Amino acid sequence: MAFGFAQAFRTISKLTLAGAIGASLAAGDVGAEQKTPSPGSAKGQFGAVSLPTQGPAQPIGFYAKGCMTGAVALPTDGPTWEAMRLSRNRRWGNPAMIALLERLSQDGVKYAGWPGILVGDIAQPRGGPMFNGHASHQIGLDADVWFTPMPARRMTAEERENLPFTTMLQKDKVLTVDPKVWTQSRARLLMLAASYPEVERIFVNPAIKKKMCDTWTGDRTNLGKLRPEYGHDSHFHIRIKCPPGAAGCTPQASVAAGDGCDKSLAWWFTPAPWAPPKPPKPGAKPPKPPREMMVSDLPKACAAVLDAASVASMQAATYGGPSAASALTTAPAAAPAADADGALPDVGPVPNDKPAIQ
Ligand SMILES: [Zn+2]
Repeated sequence: MAFGFAQAFRTISKLTLAGAIGASLAAGDVGAEQKTPSPGSAKGQFGAVSLPTQGPAQPIGFYAKGCMTGAVALPTDGPTWEAMRLSRNRRWGNPAMIALLERLSQDGVKYAGWPGILVGDIAQPRGGPMFNGHASHQIGLDADVWFTPMPARRMTAEERENLPFTTMLQKDKVLTVDPKVWTQSRARLLMLAASYPEVERIFVNPAIKKKMCDTWTGDRTNLGKLRPEYGHDSHFHIRIKCPPGAAGCTPQASVAAGDGCDKSLAWWFTPAPWAPPKPPKPGAKPPKPPREMMVSDLPKACAAVLDAASVASMQAATYGGPSAASALTTAPAAAPAADADGALPDVGPVPNDKPAIQ
């Protein structure tokens, strides 16, 4: 009986999703867009589920091919964060990821002179592939944080949908950070995020990585965690390791030793990564477009995750409990003085007064 209900729910939700895709495109999303999902496609099925499963949190599979159980939601508001693009329903993650975001937001005030973070996509309620915007973010261990600071007020839901992304790059130059937009506080926020031992990698635009290589004068131990990647010029993408005991989670190899300010970065400043795909040889068959990922392509457990019972409500599954989910009435943290860098402590390898992650 539960199976039948889940099927019906997904069918109904699919019908309403066509409109939602258009809305997210209008909100300035980028990436592989698709008008309608194929029946049985993983993104169609996982995109249609509105609540996480009950039970313990488990990432299942790999960052770019998996799903999750027991996700919790980042509260839409905290003293030092605001969640963005609420209509996408992608505030869900492994509790370790949500805890890290909250901690980063608080430490950012203290260590980076950053008044609070704007949090973009984390994952869908049960993870899995998405309609647009990301190849990864599938197991609750990836999250996007804007390079735009949190304003000193609570934005309305509408403002959170429509606030434009601000690129850190110069528009009239190739792969160059705009010195009018980039600040030391952004550099500090990145290195702070990289300082947490559970953070595996942070994806940033190659121009931002280069800027960090050229200008970061503090401890460079964790600079290698900043990985150059396409896009990522208006937000950075934090990936954490498989949490201890997550047996179904497929880890990614650690980043190579060193600061990464080497040949691997220089490659991004050659034509190779930007060249259009080579045309097929005359007479050769044109290559097939990549096949859409189906639920059956994901780890076996993910089909059961789709059909598992939901938590009672979004509030019940919000990190920090239902009270954290209710509208926040307190004012945001006061922004530190704009030029407070000199007064801030060094960004560690690991600032040592941080509590251990649960
Ligand atoms: Zn991302």
